[in-house]
Amino acid sequence: MSGTAGEGMTVTGAQRDDGATRTPTDTERAALLAAAHAARQRAYAPYSHFRVGAALLTSEGTIVGGCNVENISYGLTNCAERTAIFAARAAGQLGPPDEGPRIVAVAIVADSAEPPTPCGACRQVLAEFGRGCTVICANLRGDTLTIGLDELLPHAFGPW
Ligand SMILES: [Zn+2]
Repeated sequence: MSGTAGEGMTVTGAQRDDGATRTPTDTERAALLAAAHAARQRAYAPYSHFRVGAALLTSEGTIVGGCNVENISYGLTNCAERTAIFAARAAGQLGPPDEGPRIVAVAIVADSAEPPTPCGACRQVLAEFGRGCTVICANLRGDTLTIGLDELLPHAFGPW
């Protein structure tokens, strides 16, 4: 890998694919978790005080972080996972199937009793850019749950 662990680094060896065909390496997992922890520090959660960080690994080896961003009109709050996805797309780092990088894996970190799994909305948005991606959920005690998005969201909405 190049650079230091965390957001913005590039992990070499990641193959361009749809994310459905491989799982992240141990090095990639560690980098994703580090980036998710770093992103969590930037969470804007003055109402719930529930800070969440997420980090995506794309099929080009790029890691992009995101945090939850709350709003005083609570319904406008955005989750960490979707923040990361939208940031990655806006930066040209995610594409539709066969036309650009895909999500290989996502890590999610929060101070929760159990490893935090993505909400339903985020599962559907993850499917848009990485239907077969690996989801790594971790709490601050180091408990982890690694699960495929296809298990979290079977029969996702879409034409695929
Ligand atoms: Zn969500």
